[in-house]
Amino acid sequence: MALILDGKAAAAAAKIDLKTRIGALAVAPTLVVVQVAGDPAADRYVKAIGRICSDVGAGYALHQLATDVDQATVEALVRQLSADAGVQGIIIQMPLPAHLNSAGVIACLDPKKDIDGVHPANAGVLANGGSGLVPATPAGGMAILRHYGIEVRGKQAVVIGRSAVVGRPMAWLLLKADATVTIAHSRTANLADVVRGADIVVAAIGRPRMITADMIKPGAVVVDFGINVDAEGALCGDVDYASVVEVAGAITPVPGGTGPMTNVQLVENLLLADAHGGSQ
Ligand code: NDP
Repeated sequence: MALILDGKAAAAAAKIDLKTRIGALAVAPTLVVVQVAGDPAADRYVKAIGRICSDVGAGYALHQLATDVDQATVEALVRQLSADAGVQGIIIQMPLPAHLNSAGVIACLDPKKDIDGVHPANAGVLANGGSGLVPATPAGGMAILRHYGIEVRGKQAVVIGRSAVVGRPMAWLLLKADATVTIAHSRTANLADVVRGADIVVAAIGRPRMITADMIKPGAVVVDFGINVDAEGALCGDVDYASVVEVAGAITPVPGGTGPMTNVQLVENLLLADAHGGSQ
């Protein structure tokens, strides 16, 4: 039976620390979320961001735009917030509706206030082995591994998924922590064999319970970023938790694993943006 990597417990400890650090600042930093209305899942994420800001004493504001808002209006808002000295961090809630061009909106964002690490300037720093404003989900995954003292150096890691916000930056972070990293994706041949060779398996796929126990090397560490709703309406990860928990050495559950750490990392990024203008 695997060690359960409890993201709720890790996040609770991290929140106490964040509250102390924010309390010691002369002025608490403020995070602003820009959201285009119309996605109930996004409404929940945004609410959770507001909640953690209030829990740890950070400032928070939400700009909710109409579902049919045009590109120029979103870009003007992001430019205005980027120029506002009273705003230390900005999140553009993704995905934007199909009629909007995400890259164009992101280009209007001051990279120093880019709390989600989505601006190409920040993604480039990470890809070059630097640190700074890193996407919060993979940063949270690494924070859980650190919290439980899991050694990454020298390990074979496989990341399944290569999106710009989860899989790819997780691979860079594992590489930076001296793992030997393979990135798998929908065109990977013999995925089960590739995953079976890994000491650390990271799932960032978006397919309910796709990673099964027969794909896992006994004792491997399994980090599941998946947030899916199965055919019965239950929340589940990309990993078949019930079977994998019997084989793995350690595993993040869904819910209660990587999810709670994501918002903690958003506040970590806000503090970084406040202190260093986004760079280290
Ligand atoms: P994307 O859809 O952007 O990327 C999914 C990746 O999985 C792609 O790289 C895709 O490959 C790969 N993939 C899809 N099908 C297969 C397959 N059959 N075999 C191997 N690889 C496959 O998703 P995201 O990265 O945005 O999200 C991934 C998961 O993480 C989702 O469940 C999402 O809900 C969750 N998530 C969790 C967060 C958290 O806080 N824990 C935050 C953000 C997301 P290809 O590139 O070839 O298409």
